Order: sequence, then structure tokens, then C-alpha cells
Amino acid sequence: MNEVKKWQNHTGPILDSVKGFDVIECESCGFKHIVPIPTHEELETIYRDEYYSKEKPLYLERTREDLDWWNIVYSERYDTFEGYLPPDSRRILDVGSGPGFFLLHGKQRGWQTLGIEPSTQAAIHSHKLGLEIVEDFLTEETANKLGEFDVVHISEVLEHIPDPKGMLQLVKYLLTPGGLICVVAPNDYNPFQYALRMSCGYDPWWVAPPHHINYFDFDSLNRLLEFAGFEVLIREATFPIDMFLLMGDNYVGNGNLGRQCHSKRKTFECNLNKSGLSRVKRHLYQTFAQFGIGREVVLFGKKKS
Ligand SMILES: [Zn+2]
Repeated sequence: MNEVKKWQNHTGPILDSVKGFDVIECESCGFKHIVPIPTHEELETIYRDEYYSKEKPLYLERTREDLDWWNIVYSERYDTFEGYLPPDSRRILDVGSGPGFFLLHGKQRGWQTLGIEPSTQAAIHSHKLGLEIVEDFLTEETANKLGEFDVVHISEVLEHIPDPKGMLQLVKYLLTPGGLICVVAPNDYNPFQYALRMSCGYDPWWVAPPHHINYFDFDSLNRLLEFAGFEVLIREATFPIDMFLLMGDNYVGNGNLGRQCHSKRKTFECNLNKSGLSRVKRHLYQTFAQFGIGREVVLFGKKKS
């Protein structure tokens, strides 16, 4: 039995301990997270000034290199939104909009776009693309100034913030009745990662405090969305890149090999897309989601009235 840890009003068994933080299966939150939870103040400098220069120095460059592939991913997301919404509902907010390419794609297909992004570097990049960006964190105060949206997209954000439940409630407030949310977060403690620990002696490389605070899977993120007032419409995985590790390509800490594995995944997806088989790919990834497999959890939800 794992030791149970109690920190403030968070309680649960300790799954891993890394760099002085414990990952607990929190009974009050319903998902895994580290304790102690860093404060907003402790994180503020990282995300305003350092994230794209120190933590992810190659991110902008790599996103640009991968843009053809990203545009396929983005296109599928906008297709999904347009499938659920009437033709005059085309206002989107991207929370943590990063370099801005997701919004640029939407703008080019006629959407009215807005981003909110704390990183100065990323905001400058987005402005150069001609995008409107609010350079800040999403808080109760900033939410009041943003307006109303038909879709809120929030990708690779919830794992980084101290209060994901509070953020989803703010998103709900920003959406029109029947508005859509698309959430993307890493799928951690997934079956392939479990196999890597059991069979190949891997350490939990995905545990990365203090940046990664929360560790979701399909069920826990689904629960969180429902709790915040959304009905989940689609559960989809992204490519289970950890499969390469199981096949013997250890890219952990090896950036070059990581890029090679990523490139194979891109080739796989681009070829399916070129053949007009995007629907087959999505069906496959939705089936992966049923088994908890995939590097990321992608959920599409609708605001409940
Ligand atoms: Zn908790």
C-alpha cells in the first residue's frame, strides 16, 4: 500500500516523488497532482518571461518546421467545431495561445479569433502574425474583459496551473449557451507508460514538477469537465508516441531521436490525410481513447445550460 499524504485539503496515496514533490492520487480533486502545489506567484515569472526562452527554447522554431502537420491537426479541430455549431457562430478564444498558429488557421478560414497568453515572447510572435492577443493569464479579472465566445480551446494548459477546476469554470462563463470547449492535456500514467516501468525499468520521466502540476487521463479529465458544467461529446487520443519506447527507441532525454520518432508519426498522419483517410485516423484514435492509450487526451465538450 502506498503511503497516504495530506496537504492542505488534498489527500491521497503517493504515486511518485520527484525533486521534493509528491504526486498524489488526490481524492478531493479526482485527479493526480503534485503536492505542495506551487502558487500562482511562484509560476508567474516562469510563464511570463522564461517559458519559451528557458523551458522550451526550440518550441517556436519546431512548431514552424512542423506547420504543415499542425495545420492538419488544427483543421480537424475546426471541422469538429463547425460540425456542431450554426454557421454564424465563429468566435473562438484560445487560452494559452502560444505562438498563435492555431488561431491563425482559424482566422484564415473566417473565424473571429482572440488569444490570451502570458508569455511576452509568444505574444510578440502572435502579434507579428496579425493576431489579437491579450498578454495575460486567464483570471476572474481578465475574463471579464474578453467578451463571449462560441468555442474555447485550451491546449497544454491545465497540467500547468494550480487550479484547473477554477479555470474550467471561467471558460464556462465565457461561452455562449451551447458553446464548445476543446481541452488537450497529456495522458499520464497511461498503460504504455505502466508497461515501460514494469518491463523496461523506466523512471516516470513524465513527472516534471514544478511545471507539470496535474497528471490527467481520459477519465479524470472527463470528470473534471463534467464537474465544471460540460457534457463531453468526443474523447480522442493523440498518437501514442510512447509506443516507440516500447519498441526500443529510447528518446527520453535524447532530443534527436525524439525528433526522428515525431517525424515518423507526422509521416504516418500526413499520409493518411493525403489519402483522404482522416476519418479512419480519428476513429482509430477515438478507439485508443477507450483503452486509455495515447500521448494526449483530447476532449470536446458542450456547455450545459
Ligand atoms: Zn487535490
